[in-house]
Amino acid sequence: MNTIFHKIINKEIPSNIEYEDDKFIVIHDICPQAPIHLLIIPKSYIKTINDIGNNQLHIMSEILKIVQVLAVRLQVDQTGYRLIMNCNPDGGQTIYYLHMHFLAGKQLNPHFG
Ligand code: AMP
Repeated sequence: MNTIFHKIINKEIPSNIEYEDDKFIVIHDICPQAPIHLLIIPKSYIKTINDIGNNQLHIMSEILKIVQVLAVRLQVDQTGYRLIMNCNPDGGQTIYYLHMHFLAGKQLNPHFG
């Protein structure tokens, strides 16, 4: 499996990087749905939420730590933000590489679906 996020992580295609360390990259979504729309992507490949192994669940808490840091850095921790993870077709997943959306910067529509 070679997705667009593999290419972004490997710097084969450009992206607007907000944060990067040895385990994660955070990029700005190319088609933002809010003034701030980030994608938090682990560098170790996992296809979907379903594929997170029992020994990999720590990735979720690591993502949440990044969320907290980003929220403060971008000064939206008090105004608020929305986190979304889409899984498989009915969930709206289009890129089969685990990622979390971080949306902020305006009051988002409360309705889903
Ligand atoms: P999902 O539908 O949850 O799989 O989300 C995939 C997201 O990746 C969408 O919001 C796209 O706009 C975004 N996306 C697709 N290609 C790129 C890219 N080259 N750089 C940044 N974001 C992208």
